[in-house]
Amino acid sequence: MFEKKPRAEQGDDKPSGGLLKRGIMRATSKQSPLAMFEKILIANRGEIALRIQRACREMGIKTVAVHSEADADAKYVKLADESVCIGPAPSAQSYLHIPAIISAAEVTDAQAIHPGYGFLSENADFAERVEKSGFVFIGPRPDTIRLMGDKVSAKNAMKKAGVPCVPGVDGALPDNPAEIVKIARSIGYPVIIKASGGGGGRGMRVVHTEAALLNAVAMTRSEAQAAFNNPMVYMEKFLENPRHIEFQVLADSYGNAVYLGERDCSMQRRHQKIIEEAPAPMLNARLRNKIGERCAEACRKIGYRGAGTFEFLYENDEFFFIEMNTRVQVEHPVTEMITGIDIVQQQIRIAAGEKLNFRQKDIELKGHAVECRINAEHPYKFTPSPGRITIWHPPGGPGIRVDSHVYANYFVPPHYDSLIAKIIAYGETRDQAVARMRTALSEMAVEGIATNIPLHQELMQDAAFLNGGTSIHYLEHKLADRTKGQ
Ligand code: ADP
Repeated sequence: MFEKKPRAEQGDDKPSGGLLKRGIMRATSKQSPLAMFEKILIANRGEIALRIQRACREMGIKTVAVHSEADADAKYVKLADESVCIGPAPSAQSYLHIPAIISAAEVTDAQAIHPGYGFLSENADFAERVEKSGFVFIGPRPDTIRLMGDKVSAKNAMKKAGVPCVPGVDGALPDNPAEIVKIARSIGYPVIIKASGGGGGRGMRVVHTEAALLNAVAMTRSEAQAAFNNPMVYMEKFLENPRHIEFQVLADSYGNAVYLGERDCSMQRRHQKIIEEAPAPMLNARLRNKIGERCAEACRKIGYRGAGTFEFLYENDEFFFIEMNTRVQVEHPVTEMITGIDIVQQQIRIAAGEKLNFRQKDIELKGHAVECRINAEHPYKFTPSPGRITIWHPPGGPGIRVDSHVYANYFVPPHYDSLIAKIIAYGETRDQAVARMRTALSEMAVEGIATNIPLHQELMQDAAFLNGGTSIHYLEHKLADRTKGQ
């Protein structure tokens, strides 16, 4: 990196984000170069902390790893230029502890903070605190995070911007029972009641009959109040057999926005994705371009900055927006493999005030990529399996990418997410990518803990998966059949 573009090439417009930061002089004259960060603090752990670190190293940026006591010995912590222990193992006292993270940035003189995914990545208050303390938050502006974090306001904003949404009411549900019944009738059963402040697959209830409606609304409301401190709920049509297809976008601070194609993440259990691929099998190119362009246009309209994902349910050749993620996603590598664009580096460049240096017409989707999330868990019971990894042989060979922070003798702590590795297989065709994934999984050896590799091996032979285009319920049904058969 360090390819410092003269300001004149960047255009004359000023970045719309608040970018007056410590140690970084914003370019004020057309001649002066736009400075890249010298040091970034990574406010996350595990594979994504290592992924961000790798992006920084390639760009010549120094890194600060913050870690809990449980992660003190992790190799990626030692690989960082500096590291700061921010608290004990529980996330609430470390990776979610905002003052500790800001202090770590202060003592190390970092200029920007990358939040990764999960933890504080979609916390608007954190983004605000970061910016108020004089650091750059590598992500959208706090008000955008807030807008998209509330599902009712996100849906309204998207509707206004021309993005197709799941049929339903525009705002929150009223209190009046008769009105609620009327709304449900107008949408048509089944409907789904969703918490406006919900996330992580929680705060949702499907209703099939009018008899069950009011009780379901009341229960979702009280759950939403307890879990998200926000009793607001809304109603939309429940789609019975959709696929989950999401669009990756990148937008700079100068009103430029592009989409990097889509990912199919329909292979899910309890709303948790386990296999992702790009492009989505059997998606018509014209429809892809139409929806992708709508997403990019929505970014321009709301003044979006950074990388983001528009999540849709897809049924009968129609897309329905459900939510936007304002951060990098676990599954971003499949998009990187088919576009050749490093999404994490783009996040950093955008945050530093650079203009996107490519346009939509420069983005070519080439080949196919599949990602398997390797979790430290029982492959069929899904019970977590923390502990010491005794043997670790990751796969390799043409088209195989392994994003993982673990190694032989690494101790998988019980306190966090069970993701220990992502295996990404690239091929010229979907068949080739899947064949390479099969070989990769067969080569992989992990001992000391249980992993879901056997489940992935089974799915890579599954006739419906091989055909492509299974619905979001496919895996749950398959697992239920398996249990019945035992
Ligand atoms: P969260 O923020 O909790 O992940 P989402 O709105 O993204 O919530 O929905 C999570 C999942 O719930 C979706 O991937 C889908 O499986 C299911 N879901 C949400 N809305 C609908 C709907 N209208 N019809 C059918 N399934 C839905």
